[in-house]
Amino acid sequence: MQIFLILKSTEQIGYRMVTQHQRVVNGFLIDLDGVLYEGETAIPGAVDTLHFLLKKQIPFLLITNTTRKSRFGIQSKLQRMGFRIPLEQIFSAPYAAVQWLRAHQAKSLYLFVRGDVFREFSEFKSTLYKPEYIVIGDMGEDLTYERLNQAFRMVMGGARIIALQKNRFWKKEDGLAIDAGAIVAALEYATRKRAIVIGKPRREFFRQAIKRLGLPAEKIAIIGDDLEADIQGGARVGLFTIAVKTGKFREEDLQRARVKPDLILGTFADLPKLFKF
Ligand SMILES: [Mg+2]
Repeated sequence: MQIFLILKSTEQIGYRMVTQHQRVVNGFLIDLDGVLYEGETAIPGAVDTLHFLLKKQIPFLLITNTTRKSRFGIQSKLQRMGFRIPLEQIFSAPYAAVQWLRAHQAKSLYLFVRGDVFREFSEFKSTLYKPEYIVIGDMGEDLTYERLNQAFRMVMGGARIIALQKNRFWKKEDGLAIDAGAIVAALEYATRKRAIVIGKPRREFFRQAIKRLGLPAEKIAIIGDDLEADIQGGARVGLFTIAVKTGKFREEDLQRARVKPDLILGTFADLPKLFKF
């Protein structure tokens, strides 16, 4: 089946064309936070749109830099908001980190994360004493000077830094919030060591997701609210890029962005209006 994204400049349907005219797309990589939901609330129309993709058997993966939840936790959160998504269609930064650690035969680590994300890492030995790797995610309110200093001492003792993602900030219900990237940067600065970044916009993360989807990159569109992680990252591996004006999207960032999205939609719910089967 071929899905045609028909891109016309029509104000009524809430999108505007930026660079492309027409593109045949067969599948999607869809960012979660800010695209399908904000906080605990689904974006209006997003549930129906995602179920429409499932019903039409349009291949897609949900790709996320969320580090506070395992894939199981993400699946239940989505379910609470009305999205019914098979686990295999969720591709997260912690899950990609597990693949990376396996490929590098990691033996021990220590996690600086919060939430149930530790479930993904159960196959590795967790130790406070000279871990081979420290894994950093968004610690939110659990971040303290003590924890940061503990991570710092581990790196000074030889541990390598695995950053689940290096996002600068994200959007909480009560406003913008500092993200794991700023904490990783602090550790890098103090230790003079570079972190291994796993999530978006790392090329390898997209390549793994593309491989899983089983389509050539040029036949895939990425949909995201983050102009750096989703749009610039996606464009670098040859994806068609669609920004949505929900979540952390800000016009100022768009003006400043080095890589502009191929297309901008008002919300994820505008997507089916672009299709011609
Ligand atoms: Mg997002």
